[in-house]
Amino acid sequence: MKPHILIVEDEQALALLLRYNLENEGFEVEIVERGDEVETRVRENPPDLVILDWMLPGASGIEICRRLRARPETKSLPILMLTARGEETERVRGLATGADDYGVKPFSVPELIARIHALLRRAKPEQLAALLKAGDIELDREKKRVHRAGRELNLGPTEFRLLEFLMLSPGRVFSREQLLDNVWGREAYVDERTVDVHVGRLRKALSRGREADPIRTVRGSGYSFNERFAEAG
Ligand code: CA
Repeated sequence: MKPHILIVEDEQALALLLRYNLENEGFEVEIVERGDEVETRVRENPPDLVILDWMLPGASGIEICRRLRARPETKSLPILMLTARGEETERVRGLATGADDYGVKPFSVPELIARIHALLRRAKPEQLAALLKAGDIELDREKKRVHRAGRELNLGPTEFRLLEFLMLSPGRVFSREQLLDNVWGREAYVDERTVDVHVGRLRKALSRGREADPIRTVRGSGYSFNERFAEAG
């Protein structure tokens, strides 16, 4: 079943942009423009996640968030709050009120989608997206296949898991130790340099010739999947 997302946003252009991108991503999308219509809609057609604008006619995002959190059936419904730039203190208040994450306008759509996937995974592990996409790279988690610009890549199982793990959190930098824990498993008895070896192999498999390298080495910290690469697609 497709995950169902409720967008609460009174800026029509933005709501439509989100709908278009989320539907492309395989979600079922519904839009509500007024804050005071949210609760009824949530009751009638319970969503898997709510994208909630901060400033709304009828009731503010903060108020809705508070109300949803107060009811047992929507207590743990994932909520992603949208705020305008410069509302830093309000953003903090938003999280304190119980939103799970926030996006600052103008936001990057791929980044927002990555956050939505992350929130859904946390909420419902069975709704794991089967397909991870970033730029021209597609990773199929069920078939364990990776394609770049339509060409299938030949990855070893460790390189596959490494890429999968990095793609799940674009932009986030992981230390070698974190990668060992998450990709190899805690009990694995391997040296941190092993990570470098496998990242090297992964890069080689991903980038033939002049293709952009989606993996970023962060000196002194570790590695990350470049979120700019994800946006380029
Ligand atoms: Ca608004």
